[in-house]
Amino acid sequence: MADTLLMTVAAPPPVRRAPVPPLQPRIRRELVDAAAVVAGLGFGAALALPIANETASAYRAPGGPAILFGNITAMGGTWLLLIMLLLAARIPTIESVVGHDRMLRWHRLLSPWPLALLSAHAFLTTVGYAQSARTGTWHQAGVLLSSYSWMVAATASWLMLLAIAAVSIRIARRRIAYDTWWVIHLYTYLAVALSFLHQIFDGSEFVGHQTARTAWIVVWLATAGVVLVSRVGLPVLRTARHQMQVQEVRREGKGVISLILTGRDLDQLGAAGGQFFSWRFLTRGLWWHAHPFSLSAAPTRTHMRVTIKTLGDTTAILARLRPGTRVAIEGPYGVFTDAHRVHNRVALFAAGVGITPVRALLEEIPAGVDVITVVRASKDGDLLFRKEITDLVAHHRGRLIEMVGPRTRNRLDPVNLHKLIPDLATRDVFVCGPDGFANQVEHSARYLGVGSDALHREIFEF
Ligand SMILES: Cc1cc2nc3c(=O)[nH]c(=O)nc-3n(C[C@H](O)[C@H](O)[C@H](O)COP(=O)(O)OP(=O)(O)OC[C@H]3O[C@@H](n4cnc5c(N)ncnc54)[C@H](O)[C@@H]3O)c2cc1C
Repeated sequence: MADTLLMTVAAPPPVRRAPVPPLQPRIRRELVDAAAVVAGLGFGAALALPIANETASAYRAPGGPAILFGNITAMGGTWLLLIMLLLAARIPTIESVVGHDRMLRWHRLLSPWPLALLSAHAFLTTVGYAQSARTGTWHQAGVLLSSYSWMVAATASWLMLLAIAAVSIRIARRRIAYDTWWVIHLYTYLAVALSFLHQIFDGSEFVGHQTARTAWIVVWLATAGVVLVSRVGLPVLRTARHQMQVQEVRREGKGVISLILTGRDLDQLGAAGGQFFSWRFLTRGLWWHAHPFSLSAAPTRTHMRVTIKTLGDTTAILARLRPGTRVAIEGPYGVFTDAHRVHNRVALFAAGVGITPVRALLEEIPAGVDVITVVRASKDGDLLFRKEITDLVAHHRGRLIEMVGPRTRNRLDPVNLHKLIPDLATRDVFVCGPDGFANQVEHSARYLGVGSDALHREIFEF
């Protein structure tokens, strides 16, 4: 690595480490497996319901096949829509295993399907009923809209879902402010509620089938309950109980501040170093939107710290927050924690403000674990928490590697990374930083044999 501006700050002689207790299976993965099985079985049952209700004569009648497939697609699309809501609901037990970013990734991967199925439902049902009535499709669409009680609401719901999907496409999403996108996204709940009323009052699976209708209402109420408890109930309760407020705004460097927050019984939140909260600062102009920030120090009973790079409108205002400002919280979230470690050796990689969760995590890794920490910055002065990191690494009797200089001269490609940490494959890798940096570390680590369960990445963008 002769041509890099690589500086090894602390590389102690080999040490005899205190034995670390074997890692416990601390993560309840079986909960996620059970939830996946329920979701799959429910999907199967939703598809089967219209088939079970079908009679041979109805199927053979004009329009029969189109109507049947229209009903199947309606049930399948709606079920997937409910799963999407649950994936975005931040259900604590599932989030603590899977991680919020991965749940959102699944939410996004799933998103085209409900819309495609519900669009197919609208088309097939209209065509089917037109064939049955031996009339034109457009004429039949008018008849359906005027003669079914909740059909107008269902059409509005479908158009809303189309609009929400359009603004969520990557190219469109980049062009609109995050907060605008978020407010538009909230209309999903209204769209889903409108489609529910259409199903219950107009759906042939439910009209005159009381058991099926009751079961479907229970499924919806359970989904609404889980969403309300996770997204509203828990945050409101935690905010009221822990009474958090800003104690101090501290300048850490150019464009970087730390907020020192106080509160009551913060240890009861069960937060760990490396996790993040969604923070809502209850002051004019800020109260209505929450922003995710990672803890930059392990939480104590009375204090938490977050460290923020002032990028856009909100983060710039945060630098001017007054001590005493009340703070509403949602969380803790995230799986970038020591509880997810699978080896007794770790390599931590951080760049820029990505140092925040790494710094907090370092504090919570047990003393006997073999720690290598790599921090990267373009300039010497950009290295955040230099003294804190040096002290924590020294406490672990670990190795701290500071890489300072232009990105092109500090590449962590597989060759360089292997020279730097030859036993990387036997370590957990934790990485947080700008996409280019984190992608390269992740790619190189995988190439060098780090398994998926040992590779942990915190992404600062949803
Ligand atoms: C899990 C996680 C942990 C994070 N931890 C930190 C941290 O410790 N320190 C830090 O400086 N930054 C952190 N961020 C990034 C931080 O949340 C955004 O930079 C910040 O919200 C930008 O707000 P803004 O209004 O100043 O910028 P804007 O210019 O409005 O937005 C810049 C970008 O930030 C993202 N963003 C904005 N608002 C939100 C929001 N409410 N939710 C999610 N993303 C949003 C969007 O991608 C947007 O394009 C974290 C992000 C995530 C997802």
